Amino acid sequence: MKGATERRELLKAVYEQAHGCVRCPLHQTRTTVVFGAGNADAELMFIGEAPGATEDRMGLPFVGQAGKLLDKLLQEIGMQRQDVFVANVIKCRPPDNRDPHPREIESCQGYLRRQVDLIEPSVICTLGNFSTKLLRADTTAISRLHGRDEVRVIGTRAVRLYPLYHPAAALYASSTLELLRADFHRIPEVLALGVPEQPEPPKPPEPIEPPDRDALSEDRDALSDDRDALSEDREELSENRKARGAAQSQAPAPPAGDREPAAQLGLF
Ligand code: SF4
Repeated sequence: MKGATERRELLKAVYEQAHGCVRCPLHQTRTTVVFGAGNADAELMFIGEAPGATEDRMGLPFVGQAGKLLDKLLQEIGMQRQDVFVANVIKCRPPDNRDPHPREIESCQGYLRRQVDLIEPSVICTLGNFSTKLLRADTTAISRLHGRDEVRVIGTRAVRLYPLYHPAAALYASSTLELLRADFHRIPEVLALGVPEQPEPPKPPEPIEPPDRDALSEDRDALSDDRDALSEDREELSENRKARGAAQSQAPAPPAGDREPAAQLGLF
């Protein structure tokens, strides 16, 4: 478990890295990288899709109309932005708010996984289809998943994943807003379930033992003895061949069927 100061410093280092990122073509069209914002010690994280025009200009996530709705819903459950951490899957705005391309997602997802590893939230609310599908590695639609918590491993960490409709989708559809609000009001209940059991950390590689010099020396001696024995065997073999050659030149050759199999193949 990291301390609050260490967590913040490590998160800042990832932010610095992302700030100058040119890992995908979106760096050419962005105004600024929208890394994410909020409490580095948050128990609760929200993850959306990608920055929009206002976010791109201000460098902060969820600051437009959808962000205002998010704030309002947080207030309704007695929380504020400072209590949570909000980020997107993609850190730079895709031009004209188009869907991010697979290569952009692939290039960018390391930042999100690092954020989750460092913040260590117990609950992650994915907002909308995009982040839900990506973090669940599954194509099931948000309409079938919203409001149901499940334990998932993200990066190296097990979290309670709690998919919600995207606030932007609830801005102009009152039925979606009601569903989002009802799911949102269950967040304290999901938080109260606590941190899920964590997976075993990967085992460090076995240390390499230094060579045993005595055993090495004995092996060398044994190898030398083997070489001597091999050399003696070769000499004996050579003698036998000569003797056999002399005997064969005096005796009549046996019919082909009576010869040793190896001799029939011309090996000697
Ligand atoms: S979207 Fe992500 S990977 Fe692409 S340039 Fe921005 S920070 Fe880098």
